[in-house]
Amino acid sequence: MHQLLDDMIETMRDAPGVGLAAPQVGVSLRVTVVEFPEDEDDPENTQRIYELINPDVIKSKGADIAQEGCLSIPGLAADVERATHVVIRAQDRNGKEIRIKAYDWLARIMLHEIDHLHGVLMTDKATQVYKLVKNEDGDIEAIPLDKAPVVRRVTQMIDAA
Ligand SMILES: [Zn+2]
Repeated sequence: MHQLLDDMIETMRDAPGVGLAAPQVGVSLRVTVVEFPEDEDDPENTQRIYELINPDVIKSKGADIAQEGCLSIPGLAADVERATHVVIRAQDRNGKEIRIKAYDWLARIMLHEIDHLHGVLMTDKATQVYKLVKNEDGDIEAIPLDKAPVVRRVTQMIDAA
């Protein structure tokens, strides 16, 4: 378990991404890692790693729609409605039970990763899906799609971008 978590953190950082679920790297375990700053005004000095093993959402409230990306579906973004406040019960890498309260973006990332453990992708829940394209200035633009594309189930290593 320690080795898996360490490898997942490395893969997440290499991607780079803010979260990764074991099924995204071909491992059928209910394990996710998330990296997010404790202080969003000082992200460089306050990065924190969350390791969630067998996570369950035991409380959730609020709702907000925001645009997400996914390492398993490069080139797409999706507007997804998610709870704004959650309490997650999980185990840490030593098997100890932990509870994490998360708000807003951190809650969104954790819910996105926990969805991966159930085979659910952001495009399954999206109210709008976008194709990400580079414009002439080299900036990434999100072009709304009329219909959500059918995305193949990802069970392998993160798609090489
Ligand atoms: Zn994802």
